[in-house]
Amino acid sequence: MPYISLNPTTNKIVKTYNSWDSQHLATALEKAYNTQQIWRETAFAERSKRMNRAAMLLHEDVTEYAKLITVEIGKPLREACAEVEKCALTCRYYATHAKDFLQDEIIQTDASKSYVSYDPIGIVLGVMPWNFPFFQVIRFSAPALMAGNGCVLKHASNVPQCALALEKLFYDAEFPRYLFTTLMIEAADVVDAIANPHVQAVTFTGSEAAGRKIAAHAGQHLKKCVLELGGSDAFIVLKDADLEQATTFSVKSRFQNCGQSCIAAKRIIPVAEIADEFVSLFKAKTTELIIGDPMNESTQIGPMARLDLRNELHLQVTDSIAQGAQMALGCELATGEGAFYPPSILDQVTAQTRAYHEELFGPVATIIHAANEEEAIHIANDTRFGLGSSIWSHDAEHAEKVAQKIHAGCSFINGMVKSDPRLPFGGIKSSGFGRELSYHGIREFVNTKTVWIR
Ligand code: NAP
Repeated sequence: MPYISLNPTTNKIVKTYNSWDSQHLATALEKAYNTQQIWRETAFAERSKRMNRAAMLLHEDVTEYAKLITVEIGKPLREACAEVEKCALTCRYYATHAKDFLQDEIIQTDASKSYVSYDPIGIVLGVMPWNFPFFQVIRFSAPALMAGNGCVLKHASNVPQCALALEKLFYDAEFPRYLFTTLMIEAADVVDAIANPHVQAVTFTGSEAAGRKIAAHAGQHLKKCVLELGGSDAFIVLKDADLEQATTFSVKSRFQNCGQSCIAAKRIIPVAEIADEFVSLFKAKTTELIIGDPMNESTQIGPMARLDLRNELHLQVTDSIAQGAQMALGCELATGEGAFYPPSILDQVTAQTRAYHEELFGPVATIIHAANEEEAIHIANDTRFGLGSSIWSHDAEHAEKVAQKIHAGCSFINGMVKSDPRLPFGGIKSSGFGRELSYHGIREFVNTKTVWIR
């Protein structure tokens, strides 16, 4: 199958690329490995210079990069620009801090000197999704390259232009050729890349189903693996919450990137005292979202990334309605060209519905009513996912206590879940394992080596 760049706003093919055969893959991995063997010896100052240059290029050409994202997945241009700027920030962050994060750690023992060093691990394979086609890649590659590793990327097959632009970005920033290589391989060939002796580790961001397969392959070949998988984050609104703020941010969290974000507020859980007012405000603000051509500056909701994903989402919605959920807004297939789906709300969602248990990866809000705080916590944890969570209350101290009872990789109080290069990011349970970003992220793909001197 070729890689197809198809614009979901028009459903027209923009470009196609042939995928590689196994010989092409083996040669590319060998070149990446040979390059990394030299790169691993470079000083941090050398690495930082190039990483800062990558940041500068991203910042200078932000609109051009953003347009690639908008063309390939329909993300509103404004959001695509913000994604590219966040990539620049992340590159600068690791250019500045990698050396400190990977300093030798002296440890007093019976030796005259003993310490831990953080050596490069080798070539890291990144298997990445389309929903943040630049940021997901930068999130693993900026720390990996700064740690002295090489990176090979198997990107989602609907974002080949973004994938190739990222390879060119690192080359233009004067990283050695092949140190970052985009592999134009198919999903079925990922197993060959994992098995290749030149690859030492794999980081995967994407669906739970594919994550299980990647983890099994990595396990079989004893390769270190980090998994960033799906989520169904709870957004708990307690009785003393600021409802203006809570509704503004729940709408933003649920509908940004047309609802296609792993950390979106996928299960909104208001407690009984404020539920009616919350739902009414939430619905009013959702109705105001501007739908249209994602290239327009004012557009807030563009198409979904692919028609098949939209149709899959609609099936989850119609099944949930048949199972008892109430259609509070939207929930009907848009007519016309493009993979558009209207911002929708499913209210009174219960454990008898698909929407309660499954990740809805599109612009559909699920509202689950809780009788009280205790039930809200129970519902929040009644999921196989464990990525993020958000709790809203005037009493931040009390909300912090609630957060301690939530089983997830992060809890945000009076704020929507978002990633930040300074903070670790990742999940538990079926949302995966391992962490990206902060010093935790850079230490995932290093050889934590003990040195002991008599
Ligand atoms: P996906 O279908 O799992 O695809 C992700 C990547 O895996 C793509 O490059 C895909 O290649 C590849 N792939 C798919 N099946 C594979 C297999 N059997 N073996 C090897 N590689 C395989 O996920 P998606 O639809 O692109 O992304 C949406 C999901 O990602 C959602 O569940 C979302 O929550 C999750 N996500 C999680 C995070 C996080 O940080 N936790 C961030 C973003 C997204 P092809 O395109 O060629 O199939």
